[in-house]
Amino acid sequence: MSKINFSKEAVKKVVLDIDNKVKILNINKFSNQVDIEIEVSNFTHKAKSDLEKKLLPALNEFFLKDISFSIKFTAVKKDDLNNVNQLSNIKNVIAISSAKGGVGKSTVTANIAITFKNMGFNVGVLDADIYGPSMHIMFDLVGRKPLAVKVNGKSKMKPLESYGVKVLSIGFFTGIDQAVIWRGPMATKALNQLIFDAEWGELDFLIIDLPPGTGDIHLSIMQKISVNGSVVLSTPQIVAMADARKGITMFKQENINIPVLGVIENMSYFSPPDLDDKKYYIFGKDGVKNLSEDFNIPFLGEIPIIQSLRESSDIGRPGVLQEGSELTKIFNEITKKIIINLTERNKNLPPTEILKIKTMAGCSS
Ligand code: ADP
Repeated sequence: MSKINFSKEAVKKVVLDIDNKVKILNINKFSNQVDIEIEVSNFTHKAKSDLEKKLLPALNEFFLKDISFSIKFTAVKKDDLNNVNQLSNIKNVIAISSAKGGVGKSTVTANIAITFKNMGFNVGVLDADIYGPSMHIMFDLVGRKPLAVKVNGKSKMKPLESYGVKVLSIGFFTGIDQAVIWRGPMATKALNQLIFDAEWGELDFLIIDLPPGTGDIHLSIMQKISVNGSVVLSTPQIVAMADARKGITMFKQENINIPVLGVIENMSYFSPPDLDDKKYYIFGKDGVKNLSEDFNIPFLGEIPIIQSLRESSDIGRPGVLQEGSELTKIFNEITKKIIINLTERNKNLPPTEILKIKTMAGCSS
């Protein structure tokens, strides 16, 4: 192919032939140097570098040799993301997911929420585990009901507060022994009320306790709230990790694209109280650490099997309320890592785009 002289139209064509999703903001030519500014929605270093590696050779191939190109990347502005997130007074939304049930997701969510509070943040917990809510139990709120408050003439639910954390759960509206049985659309409607008919006030963090699995409720939340990051929890045994893999893959899927801030291993080992230098790896060793390496995502920490953690959850007094305990130290470390990774994520990436569902591929209950 014979090489051609510079024209802005020709540059646009070469760029858009390579990637028709980018927006060209500026093309400036100074002498034989051409600077191209393009806007990208994926602002990760890898995405930028991959695109640059495709664009520069294509441009050099197309134009006369004496022209040299440089590319400047700009992240899509928040307003341009069609952000329908109505939770404008909530700074960060973190979703906690386990994919498999019974691995300790609710226990860990409650303890992380209180750790955030103890660090001085305003925190809310949304129990989105609509079929098996437990936050009302974890926060000793069984039998209590949120009050209605008027906000701009509209009636809103005021989350209940326990240990300084604001909590909303479908468990406030069901009897303790009542099975929550409803069809998908009803569950989604109930969840919408918890999300949008609530007066959360100013929050630094809203933590969403997702139901196990990778199904409807997850997609429904990601369609409505801009989730800054997710945390995946698993126990180290193979069956749990197979599900955790699905959970991570769901968040990483191109049309979902929620950064995984890290993985936590729960029930890593057991040390008998009278033999605390001994560790029994009941569910296997280092499984979740290896999983984090496989997916190249941060490992946030391991939580051993601790009898008092189970007991304190059962009576609605999360373990981290016991100041100075080993458990409190473990949760402090995990929560600090979440904050560091979230800060990094907020610095380097544009706000998460509200999911526009085009396909259910890759999502199963
Ligand atoms: P999930 O929300 O994943 O279904 P839960 O948080 O309800 O799981 O935990 C299941 C049970 O395991 C609860 O009785 C809880 O107290 C207990 N549990 C969770 N993590 C631990 C742990 N590290 N040590 C001891 N018991 C735990």
